[in-house]
Amino acid sequence: MSTITENKVVSIHYTLKNDAGEVLDSSDGSEPLVYLHGAGNVVLGLEKALEGKSIGDSVSAIVSPDEGYGERSGPPPQPVPKAAFGPAPVLHPGMAIVAEDQQGNQMPLWIVAVEDAQVLVDHNHPLAGETLHFDAEVVDIREATEQELAHGHVHAHGHDH
Ligand code: ZN
Repeated sequence: MSTITENKVVSIHYTLKNDAGEVLDSSDGSEPLVYLHGAGNVVLGLEKALEGKSIGDSVSAIVSPDEGYGERSGPPPQPVPKAAFGPAPVLHPGMAIVAEDQQGNQMPLWIVAVEDAQVLVDHNHPLAGETLHFDAEVVDIREATEQELAHGHVHAHGHDH
């Protein structure tokens, strides 16, 4: 029977809650999450909890920020003029965007709030500083293809290139 090890493609159903027990994210009612194990596609603490598991196994993992989305750091959210996002941008809180500095280095940013003329962006992931409570069930395990290993992610559900 196959178990979860590096370079397996793993399908899980999961629910993610915060310390207060509020559901932050869940695959309930939709397709399972499919990820490449060992490639950093999901947070480290969840990968560790799933390591060695088999199809049908359930795991519960409490993941601290250092194995989750990191501690919050740096300056508070910064305002950016909405016009900087181009004409009629579709923007909503929680959305990830990629910004480029003057040297052309790309960095991920997250939208915290959308106001009339400006948008507040933060370089911290929305779940930075949070302890993550995962409940997950392993639905499927398969070998990754060579192309998936080369790309470091799974090719499924319309991800096709
Ligand atoms: Zn790819």
